[in-house]
Amino acid sequence: MKDPQNANGSTVRRVPTPQSESLPLVTPIFPSVVYTTSGPDELDRHYEGVEKGYTYAREGHPNADVLAWQINRLEGAKHGHVTGSGMGALSAVFLALLSAGGHVVSGNLLYGRSEKLLSSELPKFGVDVSLVNPCNTEEVQAAIRAGTKLVHLETISNPTLRIPDIANISSLAREAGILLVVDNTFATPGSFRPLEAGADIVVESVTKMLGGHSDVTLGYVGSMAEELIDRVRETATTHGFAPSPFDCWLAERGINTFELRFEKASQNAASLAALLAKQSGIRRVVYPGHPGHPDFAAAETLFKRGFGNLLSFAFEGGREAVSRFVARAPSIPFAPTLGDICTTISHPPTSSHRALTEEEREKLGITSGFIRVSVGIEKFSYIEEQFLLGLQNDVA
Ligand SMILES: *Cc1c(COP(=O)(O)O)cnc(C)c1O
Repeated sequence: MKDPQNANGSTVRRVPTPQSESLPLVTPIFPSVVYTTSGPDELDRHYEGVEKGYTYAREGHPNADVLAWQINRLEGAKHGHVTGSGMGALSAVFLALLSAGGHVVSGNLLYGRSEKLLSSELPKFGVDVSLVNPCNTEEVQAAIRAGTKLVHLETISNPTLRIPDIANISSLAREAGILLVVDNTFATPGSFRPLEAGADIVVESVTKMLGGHSDVTLGYVGSMAEELIDRVRETATTHGFAPSPFDCWLAERGINTFELRFEKASQNAASLAALLAKQSGIRRVVYPGHPGHPDFAAAETLFKRGFGNLLSFAFEGGREAVSRFVARAPSIPFAPTLGDICTTISHPPTSSHRALTEEEREKLGITSGFIRVSVGIEKFSYIEEQFLLGLQNDVA
């Protein structure tokens, strides 16, 4: 390519991007905040929707669109929008679809920040929220009343991995004429596609298993209904929940291997559940694919595509047993997130559920010896070796 600079170029100015007949294989990164047009007529056509074009990055950019299309494919969605975080995605949905006087029904076993959003933020805008046991469909039904606009569920609860009957709740939401929003972050589209089970909207924290490398913070909202995504996009743009082009590009790269990672991590999780179930000194192992799981029947019906990479277990001993385990297995990072390529462990009583009293935690089944494991894609023999190292002496 020839350098287009000429002798007059002795000041700061933009040079044209090289245009070539040969297209790059990989999506380029578009960090540009703004896009030029040929003039007011073209800008009119963009804003009127007659022609597709980008204008200002907060409103949309190519890297966000490419990522949304990739996740649409995984979720079986027709339309999608990417936000700067999973919480941004949830906020955009609630702020777009609710207004003062409205009422939301959600679960009482939520991801910590989602619980905060529902119980501390939405009431500031005059939205009333009922948190009920999502695994008891009658309780969900009883909470729906005149003014209920939306039911919000998580496919798998944190950290006890309970599974609501989404298909049934979706039918009763439909009958009542209200929207069902499903946060599918823990299950991922590898296990389950909420839109196929009748949800109106699916939300993902791309930060976790979809991005998969713990190096981006992003969220996604998907639907079959263009009108819903248009409303979410409008609200997200106004509130400023925009994603960074570089983060979208990294997540796109991560998603290229999502299916492979999901399959390997699920196999590893099933093997680890079986290994832990054989050890003494462990009070219980919680894995949706384990016959002892309280929602095993629901999981078998819903999760035809695999039981996922999350499992939890509880030591007979309390917090001391957890500390001994962490100290003996330093190669398993103790980190309160999920979905990384490596196996990580977290201790909900001192992280996500630290705001609850010990009694409240016990009621949810989160004992002081409780550990949540996000299983990675290592060779299983390595995971086994590290866990057995951690369990020494705590097990017979
Ligand atoms: C992590 C997470 C979120 C929030 O996503 P961020 O990308 O961290 O903002 C929401 N819901 C669930 C279930 C999550 O695990």
